[in-house]
Amino acid sequence: MTAYIPLMVFAAFLAAVSAVFTIVGPKLLGTATDTLIDSASRGDVDFVGIGKTLLLLAVLYGIAFLFSYLQGFVMSGVTASVTRKLRDDIFKKMHRLPFSYFDETSHGDTLSRITNDVDTISTTLNQSFSQIITSLASLAGITVMMFTISWQLTLISLLMIPATLFSVSFIVKRSQKYFKKQQDYLGAVNGHIEEMLSAHDVVCAFNGQGASIQKFSEYNEVLYRSAGKSNFLSGMIIPLTFVISNLVYAVVCIAGGFFALKKMITIGDIQAFLQYIRSFTQPLQMITNVTNVLQQTAAAAERVFEFIELTDEPPDVPDAKLIAKDANAKNDFSVGFENARFGYTKDKIIIHNFSAYAASGQKIAIVGPTGAGKSTIIKLLMRFYDVSGGAIKLNGDDIRSYRRDSLRSVFGMVLQDTWLFNGTIADNIRYGKPDASRDEIIAAAKAARVDNFVRSLPGGYDMVLNEDADNISRGQKQLLTIARTIIADPAVLILDEATSNVDTRTEVLIQRAMDTLMADRTSFVIAHRLSTIRNADLILVMKDGDVIEQGNHQQLLAKSGFYANMYNSQFD
Ligand code: ADP
Repeated sequence: MTAYIPLMVFAAFLAAVSAVFTIVGPKLLGTATDTLIDSASRGDVDFVGIGKTLLLLAVLYGIAFLFSYLQGFVMSGVTASVTRKLRDDIFKKMHRLPFSYFDETSHGDTLSRITNDVDTISTTLNQSFSQIITSLASLAGITVMMFTISWQLTLISLLMIPATLFSVSFIVKRSQKYFKKQQDYLGAVNGHIEEMLSAHDVVCAFNGQGASIQKFSEYNEVLYRSAGKSNFLSGMIIPLTFVISNLVYAVVCIAGGFFALKKMITIGDIQAFLQYIRSFTQPLQMITNVTNVLQQTAAAAERVFEFIELTDEPPDVPDAKLIAKDANAKNDFSVGFENARFGYTKDKIIIHNFSAYAASGQKIAIVGPTGAGKSTIIKLLMRFYDVSGGAIKLNGDDIRSYRRDSLRSVFGMVLQDTWLFNGTIADNIRYGKPDASRDEIIAAAKAARVDNFVRSLPGGYDMVLNEDADNISRGQKQLLTIARTIIADPAVLILDEATSNVDTRTEVLIQRAMDTLMADRTSFVIAHRLSTIRNADLILVMKDGDVIEQGNHQQLLAKSGFYANMYNSQFD
């Protein structure tokens, strides 16, 4: 950010110069008037003298315009770059943050930092910055010019400064709390709309429309009141400063007339002076207004920098290894958990002491009641979180010794929450391998048993899925994500079975597709239906974060323990 400071100083200089050149105008006009009066009273109007003064004036205004134009050019460049950099920084930061950040923060908050807060900073840089410089330079310049004309009149005029500042700050203080309330409730109104949009079906299912409308009206009512008050109060600033400046103006007119009678000041000077006094009010108002904006910007900047300075996910170790991915040796990956220990927070350990070994090419099933820690084990394997004790090993090496991106590229995940994006079906499948050809996409879809379905859709592979992909069914979404994983051809597979909410026919399709995917690959399956894992090489039965039984299907049944119980209850 500091890289932009020289440019900003330059812009400030340009703005100040432009203001100074503008300020000389009235004085020159006054001189022209005096020349006119003088020469006219001598009976011979000095057109040449007046013409020269007016020409000089035109040149000065021209220069002022040029500098102001340059200033605008420099500052809009700076603003655009700063805004782009902030957005980039925030977005890149989002990808470097530890997963725990996302557990603790609402998406809306992060979203608002990258949009609203950055926008506020951008507007201030673009407009308020040059306004402040121009206003300050104008105030200083005008004061100097007024002093050169008449120090007595200047002193009278300067009374305007404390009077204006006092009355404006009085209003600003009073309106500040309404502005704050307005921002807060704007957020609440937006938040409620977002909630309503994302949970539209739930709201309808529970007949929650009435309550939702009621809540919205309450927020909207507070917003309406606070916005009304804040705007009313801030709207008073301009008329009030107008009154003050008019009063001062009147006093200066009377005093000026008096001085003119005493021959202490010329008519041209009074004319110039009155013009200065008129242009004095504007920068004064501008500065008081901008103070308001600056307060808001400071808050926005704090939120943006707070985010950018959050602690990153711990970096890869200095000599982190890359995993050589050999297409012919895709099943050469063994995975071992050695006394792994982990908790999302320090005071609540979820996984106490987890050990298991998957030889390459084996199929490992993890079963257990909800909340047992099955998904947590998978997240540890993907290094979304790091263990706090023990280790997880890939081919005998601690997974922390590899680069994260390289480690993750080894795994392919098919989760219950199918994630498809707004784009064509082909694009969604291609996400697993960006350079995949059309034939590869179709082959993957065939392997995932979804080709027939896709062809029956209007547009086929080019049908556009909407944002939530709710224009196709859950089971079909699952098949598409399987196709995506097939095309990615990962070395180790992680499957979270989600067959419970699809029809039996689709379930069979999904099961077959998953079997195709698992063939010859080290795979981890979180199984909900125990019938699907009878052929697993190893079944880990988890309860409260620990493996309470392990073995293959036959061994576990023979034990007549927890697994046998679960299995029998599913088939009784
Ligand atoms: P399973 O997949 O077996 O249903 P999970 O691994 O999802 O279980 O959860 C295990 C435990 O960890 C649960 O008690 C759950 O509440 C807790 N948990 C899961 N995710 C988080 C998280 N992001 N932050 C804090 N606690 C979590």
